[in-house]
Amino acid sequence: TPNAIASVLSDLVGLDIITDATQVAKLSHDYYHFSPVLQPQLQDKFGDAVVRPVNEAEVLKIAQACVRHKVPLTVRGAGTGNYGQCIPLEGGVILDITKMTAVKWMKPGAVRVEAGAKLAALDKQTREIGWEIRMAPSTYRTATIGGFIGGGSGGIGSVTYGQLRDRGNLLAVRVVTMEDEPRILELRGDDVYKVAHAYGTNGIITELEIPLAPAYPWSEIIVNFPDFMSAARFGQALSDADGMIKKLVCICPDPIPQYFAALKSYIPAGKHAALLMISETCLEPLAEFVKEFSGEITYQKPAQEAGKGIALAEYTWNHTTLHARSVDPTITYLQTLFPDDKNLSLLEEMYHHYGDEVMFHLEFLRYGGKARPASLQLVRYTTEERLNDIIRDHESKGAFIFNPHTYLIEDGGMKMVDLAQLQFKEQVDPYGLLNPGKMRAWLERS
Ligand code: FAD
Repeated sequence: TPNAIASVLSDLVGLDIITDATQVAKLSHDYYHFSPVLQPQLQDKFGDAVVRPVNEAEVLKIAQACVRHKVPLTVRGAGTGNYGQCIPLEGGVILDITKMTAVKWMKPGAVRVEAGAKLAALDKQTREIGWEIRMAPSTYRTATIGGFIGGGSGGIGSVTYGQLRDRGNLLAVRVVTMEDEPRILELRGDDVYKVAHAYGTNGIITELEIPLAPAYPWSEIIVNFPDFMSAARFGQALSDADGMIKKLVCICPDPIPQYFAALKSYIPAGKHAALLMISETCLEPLAEFVKEFSGEITYQKPAQEAGKGIALAEYTWNHTTLHARSVDPTITYLQTLFPDDKNLSLLEEMYHHYGDEVMFHLEFLRYGGKARPASLQLVRYTTEERLNDIIRDHESKGAFIFNPHTYLIEDGGMKMVDLAQLQFKEQVDPYGLLNPGKMRAWLERS
C-alpha cells in the first residue's frame, strides 16, 4: 500500500532514494521484450521506489524496513536479464545494487567482490594480475556479477569452463536475509546453490567469491563457410580440440550475419560464419582447422587491439538476437542444448526441417566434460501456439529447451522444484517479500 511504502522510505531517510515515476519505471524493467509472450504479461509491472545502497549496512537497513512494513523487495543489477527476472510483479522497493562495486581482494585464481561490480570493469582489474573472469554474458560491459549469478547461466568462456551451475564456478556468496531481524550469512561449497540462479527470491547477495582463469591474449576472428554443416562441424572440432585455447566458438548460419551491420563487409550474403576468440598463440593450428573444413578467414583482430573497434563477442550469445531484432522486431528466440553427438545429426535434421523459420545460431559450451552445441536459435514468430509446437518438437526429438518465455525460475530450464532453494527461502524470507511471484515452488507450497 502507498502508506507502507511511505513508511519504508521514511525509515530510510538519508539513503539514495528515487521516487520519480519515469525513472522508477525505467529501473523496473529489463530485456523481457525479446519475448512476445512475456511482453504483455510484464509491460505494466513497476516498482514504487528505487533505493541505491552504498554498503552492506545500508542493505541491512533496507531489508529491515521492508520486513517491518511488509513491503516487497526486488534486487536489481544492471537489468539486462531476458526473462523479467528483476521486474517486480507486486510493486514495492527496488534495491539497485550498482553502487556496491568494491573488489575486496584478488589472488591468483580467485577474486572477492561486491555484487554490483560490472563484469568488464572487474575483468580489467583481475587482468592486471594476469587473471580473468572465467565466463561472462555478452552483456559484460554493463551486467553486474551479482545479476549474472542471480539470473544468468554462462556465456563467453563457457566453451572451456562450462556453465555457472557447474561446481567450481562459484566459490562463495554473502547474503542479507529478510527475517524480522535480517542477518548476514556466508554460503560456501554446495550451499552457494541455495541462492545461485534464484532470481533474488531468497537473499540479497552483497559479496561473491569467484574463480578466475589465466588471462590469454585473445584474438578475434571471423571464418566464412560455404555451407552450414561445415561451419557447425568446424565448431564442434575446434571446441573438442584440447590443445586449442579458446573463449568463444559461435556459429551464425546465413542469413543471420546480414543482421550485423558492422560485420557485413566480412561476411557476404550466402556465407555461414564462425565468430571466434582464440589465444593468439593458437593461430597457426587454427589455420589448419579452417583448411580442414574448407573455411576462409576474413577478419582477424590482434589481442593488443582488444577493447578497440568491433567487439566480436557483442555479436554472439544473446547479442545475436539483439542485432536481429533491431532489424526485424518480429524475431524472437529459443535456448536449446543439443545431444552429445559428434555428427550433429539432430541439428542437421532440424536445420533442414525448419528452413527459414528457425535459424540455428550455435554457441559451443562444455557440458558434463564434453563440448556440445547450444543453440540460441532465432525464430520468426507468428503465434504463441506455433512457438510451443516448435518447443515440443525439439523436446520430443531429444533437444533440451531452456524456455526463455517464462518468468518462473523452474519453468525456464530445470523444470523441477529446487528443494534447497525453497527451504532456504522458507528460512530467510518467511513473509515471501523477495521478488514475489518468481518461484513456482513457493507459490504452490501447501
Ligand atoms: P539483472 O537483470 O539486474 O538481475 C538478474 C536477476 O538476478 C534478477 O532476478 C535479480 O533480482 C537478481 N539479482 C541481481 N542482483 C542480485 C543480488 N545482488 N542479489 C540477489 N539477486 C540479484 N545471460 C547469460 O547468462 N549469458 C549470455 O551470454 C547473455 N547474453 C545476453 C545478451 C543480451 C543482448 C541480453 C539483453 C541479455 C543477455 N543475458 C545473458 C542475460 C543477462 O544479461 C545476464 O544474465 C546478466 O549477467 C544479468 O546481469 P544484470 O546485472 O543485468 O542482472
